[in-house]
Amino acid sequence: MFDGLTERLSTVFDRLSGRGVLSEKDVEEALREVRVALLEADVALPVVKDFITKAKEAATGEAVIRSIRPADQVVKIVYDGLIEMLGGEEPVPLTIALNPPSVILMAGLQGSGKTTTAAKLALRLSKMDRKKVLMASLDTRRPAAMEQLATLGKQIEVETLPILAGQSATDITRRAMSAAKLGGYDILILDTAGRTTLDEGMMSEAAEIARISQPAETLLVADSLTGQDAVRTAKAFHERLPLTGLILTRADGDGRGGAALSMRAVTGLPIKFLGAGEKVDALDVFDARRVAGRILG
Ligand code: GDP
Repeated sequence: MFDGLTERLSTVFDRLSGRGVLSEKDVEEALREVRVALLEADVALPVVKDFITKAKEAATGEAVIRSIRPADQVVKIVYDGLIEMLGGEEPVPLTIALNPPSVILMAGLQGSGKTTTAAKLALRLSKMDRKKVLMASLDTRRPAAMEQLATLGKQIEVETLPILAGQSATDITRRAMSAAKLGGYDILILDTAGRTTLDEGMMSEAAEIARISQPAETLLVADSLTGQDAVRTAKAFHERLPLTGLILTRADGDGRGGAALSMRAVTGLPIKFLGAGEKVDALDVFDARRVAGRILG
């Protein structure tokens, strides 16, 4: 799997003599290669620095296992470090509240893939988990976004809250909550309004909706292709909203996976899913092993 980095490290280690432990100098040389690999994968610089410090501690003085090449051994240490930084091998499942409806609040910038991802989640919860799901769009400024959710709902056979003109986002939230209660829905997915840039109005509206709806999950949807901007977005949202997890979209176009590592490291939030295409079933449970493999290349 990790041929790219393993090969680079082999070149470093081929120059080294067959000592019994990984010396500080060997490790430093190897980690220089790791640093380049991480930066090439678009991992944020402070995250790279922090990672290298930890990997150095883990690797220095570690006995060279005779049956394993030193290069493979360092790759293993780096791989384990990446998995840890990505939150471990086990995916973090969605939290569902004991008392229905369990609210999932979707937040994110316009264009990040939020509405599509709301439908992907709804499809997954209704088809795989057999939950009764209701979706509601709160994007009162963009009627097209409300229509988009309604269209997606029809396509995946998941109910959407009827659109009523003239209601505020908080009005719609309250209406959606009572409709979900009365209709015996298990899950209510609220698709908040996005803006193209970080915006105080968007943040305070989303925070108010979170206060009213008390979501079991508040998920930030971010475009992995926007790299460091996605990291800044995640940080800004995390400061204003009680986020519980991240969903990274366009993982299908992101061969590097660096945004995932940076966002996880900067926010400490679990990445729950990866969007892997435009189709409504293109949603993968986040798998740290796959992302670590991609980062190591
Ligand atoms: P919103 O403005 O954040 O609600 O974004 P939309 O849900 O309308 O998505 C914007 C565009 O991105 C649409 O054309 C989607 O089909 C596309 N999109 C969303 N998620 C993904 C993904 O994971 N991969 C790819 N390739 N396209 C996606």
